Amino acid sequence: MIDAKAYAAQDPQTDLAPWNFERREVGPHDVQFDILYCGVCHSDLHQIKNDWFPGIFPMVPGHEIVGRVVKVGDHVKNFKVGDLAGTGCMVDSCQVCENCKQDLEQYCLEGNTGTYNSMERDGSMPTYGGYSNTIVVREEFVLHISEDVDLAATAPLLCAGITTYSPLRHWGVGKGHKLAVLGLGGLGHMGVKFGVAFGAEVTVLSTSPKKEEDAKKLGAHHFVVTSDPQQIEAAKGTFDFILDTVSAEHDFNMYLSLLRTNGVMMCVGAPSKPAEISAFSLLGGRKSVAGSGIGGIKETQEMLDFCAENNIVSDIELIDIKDITASYERMLKGDVRYRFVIDMATL
Ligand code: NAP
Ligand code: ZN
Repeated sequence: MIDAKAYAAQDPQTDLAPWNFERREVGPHDVQFDILYCGVCHSDLHQIKNDWFPGIFPMVPGHEIVGRVVKVGDHVKNFKVGDLAGTGCMVDSCQVCENCKQDLEQYCLEGNTGTYNSMERDGSMPTYGGYSNTIVVREEFVLHISEDVDLAATAPLLCAGITTYSPLRHWGVGKGHKLAVLGLGGLGHMGVKFGVAFGAEVTVLSTSPKKEEDAKKLGAHHFVVTSDPQQIEAAKGTFDFILDTVSAEHDFNMYLSLLRTNGVMMCVGAPSKPAEISAFSLLGGRKSVAGSGIGGIKETQEMLDFCAENNIVSDIELIDIKDITASYERMLKGDVRYRFVIDMATL
């Protein structure tokens, strides 16, 4: 086994704290890489607090991971020691079901193996995430990272990036479309960057009037403060797509009223409580509510390459790992500009 250190939650009530544990040995198909940076996703907070389902504790969160390869198994073909490497939200899947065969491992019919808060496929031990010094991942779930990019600012692409890139690509959002991005946080700010890069006219829908200037700097064309009834009234029936990145309960019916006929609300935010949607919010304009989960490995690599070519990275605040709890508190208040990334040298 490999000695590893991390910050872990021992239970949902206690703050993260240093923890020593063991990773599995590097198997023939595995890549081990030392972690340089790890992004802080709102999903980390949902999971350590048992918001979605009872978690596996101790839990080491983190699924926006970049680092440098230190060891590879005998059968590994695509990585060598010294390469940059990345891992996102999943580290394994069955690889034979119809979804896996179509490069949609995130929708593996047996369930994908989460980077943390999941069990290894052989059931031997839990998986542990990226708030850690090193990680062992099977080759198929390790991404290539360009040597030319800002590594810390690239880490959030592994989740916030692919989670917004994938639905925008799937629904073909681009030139001639009016896209609204709901919630300007980690996912939302990447949604704005991709929407603009794909040629859409982008509006940010936000509860935070203070973020207007930032939204424009990110490339958004318009900004709507959702608590202002006049601004909401003016936005009614105007959007082809809404990318909903909100992490907490919100009024779906109000937002659906902002869509045009045939409009699609693409939900990527994952509030713990179910939403109430009136049939009348949908049937009046043949509207759809849809969901999307991260993205497959092939598409994640495509997104990373697209970002490297187009100089797209996340806007980040680099933090010391000892400040993780304070960063969670700020994230809960919507005060993240626009992704916290842990400098793993501080562990
Ligand atoms: P985040 O950085 O905290 O951003 C969420 C934003 O939502 C906030 O900055 C805020 O933006 C807005 N918001 C928060 N509470 C709200 C409320 N009650 N009503 C309206 N707006 C509110 O979180 P994130 O890391 O981007 O993650 C967002 C959500 O996506 C989380 O639920 C996360 O678990 C989920 N997620 C899903 C996937 C997937 O595969 N589908 C992947 C990753 C994350 P404003 O200040 O602009 O209002
Ligand atoms: Zn995430």
